[in-house]
Amino acid sequence: MTEEERVKAAPTKAPFRKTGYISPEARFQDKFRRPRWSFQIIFAVRMPVYITSLNSGSNGNCYYIGNDREAILVDAGLSCRETEKRMRRLGLSFEKVRAIFVSHEHDDHIKGIPIIAKKYQLPVYITAGTRQQSSFPIEDHLVASFQAYEPIPIGDLSVTAFPKFHDAADPHSFIISDGPTIIGVFTDIGAPCEHLVRHFRKCHAAFLEANYDEDMLHKGSYPYHLKRRISGGQGHLSNRQALELFLAHRPPFMSHLFLAHLSQNNNDPDLVQDLFNGQSGGIRIVLASRYEETAVYTIQGAPGDEPLPWVETSPDLPEIRKAPPARPRKRQEADPRQLSLF
Ligand SMILES: [Zn+2]
Ligand SMILES: [Zn+2]
Repeated sequence: MTEEERVKAAPTKAPFRKTGYISPEARFQDKFRRPRWSFQIIFAVRMPVYITSLNSGSNGNCYYIGNDREAILVDAGLSCRETEKRMRRLGLSFEKVRAIFVSHEHDDHIKGIPIIAKKYQLPVYITAGTRQQSSFPIEDHLVASFQAYEPIPIGDLSVTAFPKFHDAADPHSFIISDGPTIIGVFTDIGAPCEHLVRHFRKCHAAFLEANYDEDMLHKGSYPYHLKRRISGGQGHLSNRQALELFLAHRPPFMSHLFLAHLSQNNNDPDLVQDLFNGQSGGIRIVLASRYEETAVYTIQGAPGDEPLPWVETSPDLPEIRKAPPARPRKRQEADPRQLSLF
């Protein structure tokens, strides 16, 4: 029997139409006019990706991305004990963690790395520029490096870094893919750039920085130089910048957006969550807290999920910068201190 004949033979419509009631299942099958088993086969061969924020904010960042077999951490800014405790609460195990990827050298992203890497003998993927600025000890055999734009396979996961604007030596964001499923980790970004936009347009889920409310920052008590450092293009993304990026560039298949790295003093979790919830377009908005881990979310892409086509410029789109170069900036430009105020 050919596919077409099978579709015609599938009894999806008549029994329900007589009573006027169409069950959700029948409506689903009716819509696509395919027999049910074909969906089961398609879903059976695709592996979901599990993601969680173990903590997000200037007091520590750690993001877990994994499948059924392996996982990575992006940054490890909590102590080893706290990281273990939070993973245990979520039913996650270090047995699956295969590597730590380091976005930049600020303390809130690297504090836990020396002990976690040593205890679990995990390779630490870090650029030479970031390592030079980080004073933490890692055993030489655990140091691994990465280059921007070059995917690194970790089992079935593939991790690709790209440079971002931030006041660090060699800062990078990451996308992690497993087959058709793509996850983005985009925090500590001074300004949206082409890289960020291009990658955001591919993501099924993303951790996106929404660091500060512009009014709260500008009317707040921080000294002028600190306000400039946060909002001056090499610091952090505001709620408005994150929302503009989200509204202009979210792909139709995005299912989850994690609001990340919220400032303790210049943001309000309820305010930013309401802001995004009101315009979420059905995408689940999750607040990545600075006090506790989020739940573990299951993300599943599909082979037909094509990234949105690139749009060079448009009056309807917020302005974006050219991407920063993929090489370490001069040493004196970097400021290794991450103030806990951010
Ligand atoms: Zn940070
Ligand atoms: Zn930072």
